[in-house]
Amino acid sequence: MRDRRKITVQGIVQGVGFRPFVYGLASRLGLGGTVRNNTTGVVIEVEGEPACLDSFLRALVAEAPPLARIERICAEQAPVEHDTAFAIEPSDIRHETQVFIAADVATCTACLQEFNDPRDRRYQYPFLNCTNCGPRFTIVSAVPYDRERTTMARFPMCPACQAEYHDPGDRRFHAQPTACPSCGPRLWVADSQGAEIHADDPLRFIGARVREGSIIAIKGLGGYHLACDGSQQDVVRQLRRRKQREAKPLAVMVENLEAAQRLCAVSAVEAEALISTRRPIVLLRKHPDCPIADAVAPRNRDLGVMLPYTPLHHRLLQQVAAPLVMTSGNLTEAPIICEDDEAVRRLAGMADYFLTHNRPIHTRCDDSVTRIVFNQEVPLRRSRGYAPLPIRLPMPCPTPMLACGGHLKNTFCLAYGEYAFLSHHIGDLEDYRTYQAFVDSVEHYKQLFEISPHVVAYDLHPGYRSSQYALALQDLRRVGVQHHHAHIAACMAEHACQGPVIGVAWDGTGYGTDGRIWGGEFLLASYYGFERLAHLEEVRLPGGEQAIRQPWRMAAAYLHQVYDEAMGDLDLALMHAIEPRTWQVLCQMLAQGLNSPWTSSAGRLFDAVAALLGVRHEVQYEGQAAVELEMLADERPAEGYSFSLADHHKPMVVQTAGIIRGVVDDLLSGEPAGRIAARFHITLSGIIRAVCGRIREQTNLRQVALSGGVFQNTLLLTQVISGLRQDGFVVYSHRLVPPNDGGLCLGQVAVATAILAGGG
Ligand code: ZN
Ligand code: ZN
Ligand code: FE
Repeated sequence: MRDRRKITVQGIVQGVGFRPFVYGLASRLGLGGTVRNNTTGVVIEVEGEPACLDSFLRALVAEAPPLARIERICAEQAPVEHDTAFAIEPSDIRHETQVFIAADVATCTACLQEFNDPRDRRYQYPFLNCTNCGPRFTIVSAVPYDRERTTMARFPMCPACQAEYHDPGDRRFHAQPTACPSCGPRLWVADSQGAEIHADDPLRFIGARVREGSIIAIKGLGGYHLACDGSQQDVVRQLRRRKQREAKPLAVMVENLEAAQRLCAVSAVEAEALISTRRPIVLLRKHPDCPIADAVAPRNRDLGVMLPYTPLHHRLLQQVAAPLVMTSGNLTEAPIICEDDEAVRRLAGMADYFLTHNRPIHTRCDDSVTRIVFNQEVPLRRSRGYAPLPIRLPMPCPTPMLACGGHLKNTFCLAYGEYAFLSHHIGDLEDYRTYQAFVDSVEHYKQLFEISPHVVAYDLHPGYRSSQYALALQDLRRVGVQHHHAHIAACMAEHACQGPVIGVAWDGTGYGTDGRIWGGEFLLASYYGFERLAHLEEVRLPGGEQAIRQPWRMAAAYLHQVYDEAMGDLDLALMHAIEPRTWQVLCQMLAQGLNSPWTSSAGRLFDAVAALLGVRHEVQYEGQAAVELEMLADERPAEGYSFSLADHHKPMVVQTAGIIRGVVDDLLSGEPAGRIAARFHITLSGIIRAVCGRIREQTNLRQVALSGGVFQNTLLLTQVISGLRQDGFVVYSHRLVPPNDGGLCLGQVAVATAILAGGG
């Protein structure tokens, strides 16, 4: 009794060792037939005993290679052809389009074993990889994904590598970036000016320099890092000075999971994220006696930790045997450097040595950053290891589309059909070089995914460079999407939530449909549209942008609004810390409303309270005051401050005067800052619960989507999620794209798709 089935598999099944896997499986079960790639995935024809065919189908899913992502599988009967042997058929390259491009993958266990085996021909070779691991996205220049169209094209394979590459039974069958010491890239050391220094063993040499306190520029997978010993306070301070990065926390790389556990508490889910093939930086809670220099993550209870993801990193960490600070090699806010000449030019003053190699990086890609909340990943930066893997859309995108994203933490995406291909982290478009990288990357993605957009979605903010770019494109249909609507739609899209939902969009700044600055919003939202149902009470932003860099201005704005003339009588530390003359000028500005636009931003309320508490009066990066306020908060239960809901307004207004009065009273009665910060957080989660409750009474909606940069705050996020669940809501929060502006482009695509479908 024989049967034959034709099985089509769709998803990420090309360039991930799927065909050799199928070949091995069929051979093991004694089945005949063929496997080949086609335009949408893999086609298998397989015949033999019906029972064996069933086992084959089950194992096809259960044992699929680690990098494969099966989206759809379809099996149908076919006429028996009496095939006894199984074969991998070559695919006709002209008909083969690479639908998906894999992300870069951390070194696998099998490769690491070879790496540590003195008898192996790749022993300690820093560029070894296989079908299951190694560089992908960062070395691809065009499709289809083949060695000639990667930066490995310049390294012809030696006979030994070639034999493995062509052997379907070998774990390097069709491993495009495969290499060995006799044919692959070479590693070397250079001095601070980029001139090669002789070192018999570059990694041992650099390991010793790190321990002595040198700062090293290391060429990695997606760009150059600046690295130094994270246990030496002076060295870390030196690195900060050279990089002109005073405060933003730095991440460390440690040798293995045990080393991470010595620094921080690591839950099972956090461990899983750390050792995943994506190898993101995971934010972990530091042990009280964490042996890391204070300068690595000052005023922060958390530490960003990652594990080695290339053979080079593995060996270097063995040599250093200490946490290695790894920060992107650039001046603050400029894009990570990936060109060798540029690296020497720009990093010469920052690094004492270069550890570099001759495998070019085609696309720069920063490390990803993630954190675990309620056993779920909350991505904060979705980049290396994740991009450009697709995200399935809640409804198919009928027309090729580009969504340009936001201005800060920019990512963009291309979408067509069922998927959105989100870019790696581009960065802050305020920097012109970063904007240039945005423009170049859009072109690269268009070519890579063979999507030539007919529609462009963009943010309504006229000052965003990404929006200006969109508006300058010719012959494309343009769809403007309101900032907070995009935030909520992104969160809905991740969960394939059909809506409508109560969208809580809290962030620093977003352009409202009334031309004012929004950021503490409650929306009744579907993909197609939204209604602004409630928002935080507006306050003045004295000096506009300046108020974002100087949170003390926000404190003054709130005090002025709440106490008016009487604010002069308050005896607050903050008021003594600011020059009386400066303070006076600001009060005049506020009184006359001069250069002081209105905002309903939740981020600015955080800034104001942080400044009142003396956390800081100026910030070096967006959101710094809010982060430090969160870190300060006492974790014991606290009672909230009072607030009220003006529901005769449309939209409703959450009046915040009670919060400011409460904070001021507590300050004047000598309450510790940690208690006040705790009370502030619980107040905000109380506001969200109360407003959602009121909206439910009016609309009967029980689904809430949480988005916006404020929800990077773990303390607030956990309070809000558990509170809303207690109140009987179904709560959606981010787990695939960041809640910050790095997730906007996904929401823009979802909204634009709905608008096109609605004939709008
Ligand atoms: Zn491998
Ligand atoms: Zn070789
Ligand atoms: Fe935002």
